[in-house]
Amino acid sequence: GTDSAEGKTYVIGTDTTFAPFEFTTEAGDFVGIDIDLMNAIAEDQGFTVEFNSLGFNAAVQALEAGQVDGVIAGMSITEERQEKFDFSEPYFDSGVVMGIKADNEEITSYEDLAGKKVAVKIGTEGQAFAESIKDQYGFTTVTFDDSNAMYMDVTAGNSVACFEDYPVMGYAITQGVGLKMVTEKEQGSSYGFAVNKGENAELLEMFNAGLANLKESGKYDEILATYIQE
Ligand code: GLN
Repeated sequence: GTDSAEGKTYVIGTDTTFAPFEFTTEAGDFVGIDIDLMNAIAEDQGFTVEFNSLGFNAAVQALEAGQVDGVIAGMSITEERQEKFDFSEPYFDSGVVMGIKADNEEITSYEDLAGKKVAVKIGTEGQAFAESIKDQYGFTTVTFDDSNAMYMDVTAGNSVACFEDYPVMGYAITQGVGLKMVTEKEQGSSYGFAVNKGENAELLEMFNAGLANLKESGKYDEILATYIQE
């Protein structure tokens, strides 16, 4: 890039399929709340972004390795991550929930997971939650790189459940993924845009300033309403 932040192009790592935050339409366009927010913020603040759709864990690793300038991927602001990354102001509240196959009448609580396999997505808050309760409830985990592969392991009947962010699981269910939720959602962290600790402070400041402007102008609500129907 160039020296001044104004007009500079930043490479932003993101997930591949994490609808409604980032996904590809049938026409092949990469869209979603994160994508539209980042584009609108870039426009508002006068910089350019280039998305790198790497997968969640790969995007976080690329950031740590300095291969991308920032990550926007429904990334939860956790204490552990704050040791490595600087986060923007939170822009969306989330939480983890369990999903099971839509026609499964046997699983109604975590107790019913005893002796079974549970699908999780590598490097996510959902995985961390599942790992934190697996000994207590006596289940094992199987890992996947992306949400769709994780859902398919459940609908195929290999795993009996998966753990995913509530808005993402809810969206997948409305899209007919063949899952359902039978438990309450767990308290989760809010989503933030991340840069490497102590680096790209200017980008983070522009993100926060742009986000505040979008909230004030109504554009933030407009973007959310495009993807989430009440
Ligand atoms: N919010 C979750 C996390 O930060 C999942 C993010 C994702 O899978 N894109 O771990």
